[in-house]
Amino acid sequence: MDTNTKRVLRLIMHLRKMGITDTKVLAAIERVPREIFIPRQMHDQAYEDIALPIGRGQTISQPFIVAIMTQALELNDRHKVLEIGTGSGYQACVLAWICRRVYTIERHKPLLERAEEIFRYLNIRDLHNITTKHGDGMRGWPEQAPFDRIIVTAAAQGAPPQALLDQLAIGGIMIVPVAKDGKQVLRRYKKEGEDTFAVKDLLDVRFVPLLPNLARTTEEADDPVPGKSHGR
Ligand code: SAH
Repeated sequence: MDTNTKRVLRLIMHLRKMGITDTKVLAAIERVPREIFIPRQMHDQAYEDIALPIGRGQTISQPFIVAIMTQALELNDRHKVLEIGTGSGYQACVLAWICRRVYTIERHKPLLERAEEIFRYLNIRDLHNITTKHGDGMRGWPEQAPFDRIIVTAAAQGAPPQALLDQLAIGGIMIVPVAKDGKQVLRRYKKEGEDTFAVKDLLDVRFVPLLPNLARTTEEADDPVPGKSHGR
């Protein structure tokens, strides 16, 4: 068994111990090569349970957070999923292994382009169901709504954007980190009717902020060291 295979298996065992029981989620994480989403000098740490910098002050989430969010979505292969915050593209690939189609939006163009390159590379092999958009995810993707599931991978201030709640199908689930009173909590919204939601707080988290509009060029300066971590 090569070193990477061993590292992947060790990570899967760790995730099981941490309470990840959905075998579809564990299988997807086992399949997606996390090292291709992170800078080469960090490849050694690709299967550690830590968040890592991906440039532009952003991070690829800690595998446990990717796993717990994916598990909380209760996904199946008929679901159409919207992801806000493509970042490295890693979470989108994990989703794509489980659901029918992933629509993913990123406000930083260089990050999106890098993720698209990786999707094309994986396309050649077996992944064909990711559609990307450079835009402000706080507005959602009205042309493609409604979505069975929505996952937001940056922290909303106070409450999730109304556009996202509107674009969730009735019966659908949204998982979103929400920042309030100096802390962040991962929250699940189940849409029960046009304007009614069952809301549950899952765990404390630490994400980069969900920001409005497209990233400005001043934000585009390459910053390999993130200011914030992205995980627990
Ligand atoms: N899901 C990513 C992690 C993303 S980090 C992964 O698997 O690597 C959060 C991302 O959300 C950052 O790339 C940030 O630029 C993006 N983001 C923040 N606000 C956004 C918005 N309004 N619309 C789209 N993307 C946004």
